[in-house]
Amino acid sequence: MAEVVLAVDIGGTKTAAALADRNDVPLATLVAPTPAAEGAAAVIRTVIDLAEQLLAAADPDTRLVGVGIGTAGVVDTTRGMIVSATDTFADWPGTRVADLVREGLGDSLPAGAPIAVQNDVDAHAFGEFTHGAAAGASSALIVAVGTGVGAGIVLGGQPLRGAHHVGGEIAHMPVPGAEHLRCPCDRMGHLEAIGSGIGLYNHFVSLGGDPAVVNARGVAARAAEDPIAARAIADSAASVGRAIAGAATLLDPERVVVTGGVPNIGDAWWGPMLAAFRAEAIDALQNTPILAGTLGDDAPLRGAAAAAWRN
Ligand SMILES: [Zn+2]
Repeated sequence: MAEVVLAVDIGGTKTAAALADRNDVPLATLVAPTPAAEGAAAVIRTVIDLAEQLLAAADPDTRLVGVGIGTAGVVDTTRGMIVSATDTFADWPGTRVADLVREGLGDSLPAGAPIAVQNDVDAHAFGEFTHGAAAGASSALIVAVGTGVGAGIVLGGQPLRGAHHVGGEIAHMPVPGAEHLRCPCDRMGHLEAIGSGIGLYNHFVSLGGDPAVVNARGVAARAAEDPIAARAIADSAASVGRAIAGAATLLDPERVVVTGGVPNIGDAWWGPMLAAFRAEAIDALQNTPILAGTLGDDAPLRGAAAAAWRN
């Protein structure tokens, strides 16, 4: 009898699901578009459809013993429920994800088997903590820099959730250099307003960058020959480095892990990010390792699986 857990990653555009073994390794992964605009029932239906396909294709002696879910939105992990979400997810806030998935799986999931629901960035962070760049550490700050900016904090092996379910929301820390940019939360000067991919692009525009460039990828592509592009990248990266220094000062994590699409810009991003960290961090924190994530797209599923086994 092979025991497995179902690991799910519900993102804004796609939902990935896999059965995972005791080491949190996805055995086979299926992906489907997330019908975010169609409402909560459609999103849950997608999860159940993927689960049913995975179970139908699995060995007959496979036994599902738990579920781990990472999802877009702020999550009340104790109730497996969505607290709030961006507008792209129709009627997602208030959705009792754990209850609905248990109902949908029916007899496929034994009564009382755990269903661990958490925010997708926290699942990503827990993946890197258990199996990736922070494996073996007792505490870590894991920062994901992509379309937005997110972070997961693990202290003493336990994810920090916070009293309002937003522990690790580094996106909305004020950072010097972002005062002229509006954050998606509608406030001025937050990290996400300059540090995210969209923020990097908005900063490029604010510096008078070439209007022919339409996104952060375009800015990155011309960094070598366009001084405005190079400056936008350097400023954006430095803001992330400052925010990490601030968060590290508060938490003193054993390791810092940086993941997501924006750091893939390479040295033009990592150089200024690390320089800003070193400039701000006090002596005791200067040697805190700041590492690139190692799991890539597997991180959220491995983190979701790890939460399911540990629940
Ligand atoms: Zn904000």
